Amino acid sequence: MLAESSIAETVSLQRSFFATGKPKNIDFRIEQLKKLKEVIKQSAESIFTAVNADLNKPMFEAYTSELGAITQEIDYALKHIKAWTKIQKKPVSLSLQPASAEICPEPLGVVLIISPWNYPFALSITPLVGAIASGNCAIIKPSELAPHTSKLIAEIITKNFPSEYITVVEGGVSTSQELLKQKFDHIFFTGGTAVGKIIMEAAAKHLTPVTLELGGKSPCIVDEDVNIEVAAKRITWGKFMNSGQTCIAPDYIFVHKNVKQDLCKYIKQSIQEFYGENPIESPDYGRIIGKKHYQKLASLLTGDILVGGESNEDELYIAPTIIDHVTWEDEIMQDEIFGPILPIMEYSDIETAISQINSRPKPLALYIFSQDKNFQTKILQETSSGGVCINDTIKQVGGSSLPFGGVGDSGIGSYHGKASFDTFSHYKSILKRPFYLDLKILYPPYEGKLSLLKKLLG
Ligand code: NAD
Repeated sequence: MLAESSIAETVSLQRSFFATGKPKNIDFRIEQLKKLKEVIKQSAESIFTAVNADLNKPMFEAYTSELGAITQEIDYALKHIKAWTKIQKKPVSLSLQPASAEICPEPLGVVLIISPWNYPFALSITPLVGAIASGNCAIIKPSELAPHTSKLIAEIITKNFPSEYITVVEGGVSTSQELLKQKFDHIFFTGGTAVGKIIMEAAAKHLTPVTLELGGKSPCIVDEDVNIEVAAKRITWGKFMNSGQTCIAPDYIFVHKNVKQDLCKYIKQSIQEFYGENPIESPDYGRIIGKKHYQKLASLLTGDILVGGESNEDELYIAPTIIDHVTWEDEIMQDEIFGPILPIMEYSDIETAISQINSRPKPLALYIFSQDKNFQTKILQETSSGGVCINDTIKQVGGSSLPFGGVGDSGIGSYHGKASFDTFSHYKSILKRPFYLDLKILYPPYEGKLSLLKKLLG
């Protein structure tokens, strides 16, 4: 852990570097983005090894969700950075004429990125892409719970970027708290809702704006008219990848009672197809991050277990599990599960399902499996969530064109693509006036001018 004085020194060095104007230079930003892409490409093997050591993450998933996602974000930023950084001309109302108006995006300064352990590389570096593209200096605090990846991120960044520009500060909660004592120009936090509140409180002391990418219980509603086999595959994939430790994984199923049995049958079949008869032996099935998380999840393995239920503490293994006949009163429905346990609830009337969803905190994601446009529209209009994916899971975060973020308890702000650029930029409004036509009506003394003003304003 870095001492407070050394953290303060790092922030101060970054402030001085930012003041030189170099990070703001657009050619510099492009150069740094290209460099980041190259460095990640060269480090691919080490990244796979690190995320595998931390989470037993299969190489295929590491490639899609850790590396592929970042490369895509960098390419998107490189493609659009010239357009994003352009000064935008705006119209000027008659009352302000003669004048011209424009909006100029400018970087915020020195930003702090605090990341979680579940996609430990991508969730540290993807926000960094936005910070660089917008012209900022950045300090990254990766999660201590993914120590191999945290160490690797520190090595990669230290070797390739000067610390006055980008620095990694490794450590746990106390390091995070030391960092939060400093004044930053933005804090980008990804993690749990409870810690999100702590971050926002610390940021408020400095009036620092925050982006909070949080979690929550994301419902997955399954209508009776769908291709149940395909729906089951897509749900199984989204729920059990990374052993269910995905912020937008379907947390629980709300299925129409007429198709519940079939859905459970096909999810069971998909689990077997994906991970074999004994998922503990599958090279494609991950592990729980640590003992504390394991124990919390193992305690939820009760009730009407339809599939799975096995666990192994030494291996930090929890089998892909489906639990039927779950009610809102059950322990498993109180908080985000964040593990490979899928509770099934049924509905017969979508109104009731919607009102039950709406009586809880707004989720990060909401999934609708239905072919009925009216059904889809009803849910879209009557519920609120960070994002929605219809007839699939997870894919809503797969591209750079859609902003990704929560609403209410699932987060504040968003990122990915242009949203990342906006997050780390300030849009400065500028009005320019010439010296000619200096209308005296605005200046005191006002006597005798009010009636003319009233006429002018209509
Ligand atoms: P966490 O909130 O426990 O930790 C996140 C980061 O905050 C870590 O770097 C940690 O060191 C730091 N931290 C922890 N406690 C702190 C404290 N008291 N003060 C200051 N800093 C502190 O989250 P996690 O367990 O790493 O990740 C799991 C959670 O993150 C889940 O709720 C999940 O839904 C959410 N998540 C959200 C997204 C998203 O994009 N919205 C992505 C991944 C994970």
